[in-house]
Amino acid sequence: MLKIDNLCVKVDDRDILNDFNILINDGEVHAIMGPNGTGKSTVSKVIMGSPDYEVLSGSIIFNSEDITNLEVDERSRKGIFLSMQNPISIEGVTNSEFLRTALNARSEETVSLFDFIKVVESSVKDLEIKNNIIHKSINDGSSGGERKKNEVLQMKILKPSFVILDEVDSGLDVDSLRIVCENINKYKQENPNTSILIITHYPRILEYIEPDYVHMMVGGKIVKTGNKDFAFEIEKTGYNEVVSE
Ligand code: ADP
Ligand code: MG
Repeated sequence: MLKIDNLCVKVDDRDILNDFNILINDGEVHAIMGPNGTGKSTVSKVIMGSPDYEVLSGSIIFNSEDITNLEVDERSRKGIFLSMQNPISIEGVTNSEFLRTALNARSEETVSLFDFIKVVESSVKDLEIKNNIIHKSINDGSSGGERKKNEVLQMKILKPSFVILDEVDSGLDVDSLRIVCENINKYKQENPNTSILIITHYPRILEYIEPDYVHMMVGGKIVKTGNKDFAFEIEKTGYNEVVSE
């Protein structure tokens, strides 16, 4: 369960989140839509604990624990995962090294190389990613779509209980979007208590991954909440119409 209360966040001397509230129960799928620059990615990064953002007030509670001041790696070990809007490349660190280190940090015992290779190979196959990716530096020379798939690969291997997908659908061609969504749905079916927060501009992804709630965010806070149909309403009328109703 993730509960955010009255969160106000500043970045670069500007107030971005302004009394932001949300409650996401175990197993629920929520979507946030909203105009560019309204603070959607800021929400995702603040949940993950990015040090670039200053929390002025409010709290983030995860599974009854106040995590507002925890470091990124502590939140990650508690099961929070962020698929970033713009995944960066990291020269000199291979996907394999990164994933094994992250996995070992999560469990008492070291994960055996055999088990690791098995799970990576099957995940790479599920996502229709090129086989050699695992021995390449993270996102080295990768296209936008390949980077998004790599984020979902990390999700499948690290097995988080709270997944944030920040525009995972942008930059994906139609086949890749279907493959990514199928993998996320399969993960959700196998881990039904996992909650998912989808940030998107397009209702299309919500046709694959059924949301329980769709929130519209404007000016650093949620201004209206509906069900899946609300996403299509927003797409049809735009944000201004809905706000001025
Ligand atoms: P959205 O994802 O809704 O498009 P963001 O959360 O990325 O919006 O950004 C909200 C506002 O905060 C924007 O004006 C953006 O320029 C600013 N912002 C976000 N992150 C940073 C940062 N690390 N440094 C400076 N400004 C930032
Ligand atoms: Mg964004």
